[in-house]
Amino acid sequence: MRLSQFHLATVKEVPADAEIASHRLMLRAGMIRKLAAGLYTWSPLGLRVLRKVENVVRQEMDRAGAIEMLMPTIQPRELWEETGRWEKFGGQLLKIRDRKEQEFCYAPTAEEVITDYARNELNSYKQLPVNFYQIQTKFRDEIRPRFGVMRAREFLMKDAYSFHLGQESLAQTYQAMYDAYARIFTRLGLKFRAVQADTGAIGGNASHEFQVLADSGEDAIAFSDASDYAANVEKAEALAPTAARPVPAATLQRVDTPRQKTIAEVSAFLKVSPAQCVKTLMVRGKDGLVALCLRGDHELNEVKAGKLAELPDEFALAGEADILAATGARPGSIGPVGLPASIPLIVDRSAAVLADFVCGGNQDDTHYTGANWERDARITRVEDLRQVVEGDPSPDGKGTLHLARGIEVGHVFQLGGKYAEALGATVLDDQGKAQVMLMGCYGIGISRIVAAAIEQCHDEAGILWPEAMAPWRVAVCVINPKHSPEVAAAGEALYQALLQRGVEAVLDDRGLRAGSMFADMELIGIPHRVVVSERGLAAGTLEYRARGDSENRSLNEDELFALLD
Ligand code: ATP
Ligand code: MG
Repeated sequence: MRLSQFHLATVKEVPADAEIASHRLMLRAGMIRKLAAGLYTWSPLGLRVLRKVENVVRQEMDRAGAIEMLMPTIQPRELWEETGRWEKFGGQLLKIRDRKEQEFCYAPTAEEVITDYARNELNSYKQLPVNFYQIQTKFRDEIRPRFGVMRAREFLMKDAYSFHLGQESLAQTYQAMYDAYARIFTRLGLKFRAVQADTGAIGGNASHEFQVLADSGEDAIAFSDASDYAANVEKAEALAPTAARPVPAATLQRVDTPRQKTIAEVSAFLKVSPAQCVKTLMVRGKDGLVALCLRGDHELNEVKAGKLAELPDEFALAGEADILAATGARPGSIGPVGLPASIPLIVDRSAAVLADFVCGGNQDDTHYTGANWERDARITRVEDLRQVVEGDPSPDGKGTLHLARGIEVGHVFQLGGKYAEALGATVLDDQGKAQVMLMGCYGIGISRIVAAAIEQCHDEAGILWPEAMAPWRVAVCVINPKHSPEVAAAGEALYQALLQRGVEAVLDDRGLRAGSMFADMELIGIPHRVVVSERGLAAGTLEYRARGDSENRSLNEDELFALLD
């Protein structure tokens, strides 16, 4: 590509709402332009990178035996009614009507459509296993679209769906996809980790997320320092403390704690550590209020709590009026002692081994000290409710947990019979009997990967693309081509020679000042830069610099070719 004939549109200013590096750099490099919230146009430059990612994903999916197809982005309501997801999917589902007032949604995913396809196309066990995939636009009306294409509303996803007769076959394809994903992210040059994931409302058994490690990541992941245990914090189990609960030593006392509401305030006021306090969260259960008790220094894991029989998957904190009516106190002063028997009291494992603790007094501006379970407060059940923290023992019994941030770029999931059952997708087995198929689904956020790579690979000057994702591998920068026909010709010759060797090169023949040209090439992250100048021509050398280096090297043409081979 000759830049004089391309549309490179780098900019200096970035909008204030670009909070993270990848969003800023994608805008500055002119890879994307915002159309509306969560909707982005991919410029010619951005599209080159997007296509690189797409091609690596396609090659590895093909290699792993998946077969490509393409489904519509507009899906009929009736199909979504069959799985109950027309209502259940929630606000992310963009619903639309056609001129006949028929209802559709814009695809946020394609389980319904592929399962409908499978029930029509597949009828014998001999056709299984089969793994279909597509690379297609998705739309999710995210509550908070942000970070550019990282959490967009319209985005590009690779989604694959496999069909099986039997769990063993599903497990095999799941492993094949897991391995393909590891190859994809390795080829793309990303630092990533596969972590155990929560299976959520979708149901099913095994699930792993592929997380690109980056401090700006929205996900927290926990991993052991002594084994290969790694899990999304949503899923990571906090083991029960090994030490038993001490016997009560203190007497229960109500103390005044005027205006002290948070654990930090109460513990400072009473001069006890937050770990010696119990905090009580009142939430709306399926039938009335439910109290969740945690150690003061621990946080509630909402995914774990959502699995409690008493709570809906997505539960909310109770309102102040309800809390006051039920306990006689406002939030900030509630606790397990003397709580009405109608409220289930579910206690986290770590909170359950405390003795002589501080908790809310169920009377405004008071707390109890010296409180003890069983003696002063009943326990309905002990459960794992909290987020793991740095230093917790690893759930597999080996080593200690550490926490890191990650960006979810891929997800593999054993769905089991959920969708095939709902849609009646069966095949005849070798006995001629109809059997519901088992399914796996496997997603990759193609457009999110572009942003995730930049989060991992950038510096002050701009992007540092891994070679596999760079829009071009080499930039040939020609200094003052208009003043020197020899220099222009030498630049053109080098560019042609590189192309002939199969090296993806871009010729910067725009005639800009050297400084502007270099700044652009650094900003857009071209891994290798070669300068053709009058001085170099006279000396018979090329000035070369790798994007990550701070010094130039003088190379002759053969040395350059050898370096790029
Ligand atoms: P997240 O937790 O980030 O919302 P998800 O669990 O909803 O992701 P999946 O339904 O598993 O995502 O979709 C498969 C992949 O699509 C994800 O791993 C992610 O890489 C990508 N993806 C999901 N939502 C978005 C989005 N709003 N913008 C860009 N990519 C997305
Ligand atoms: Mg989501």
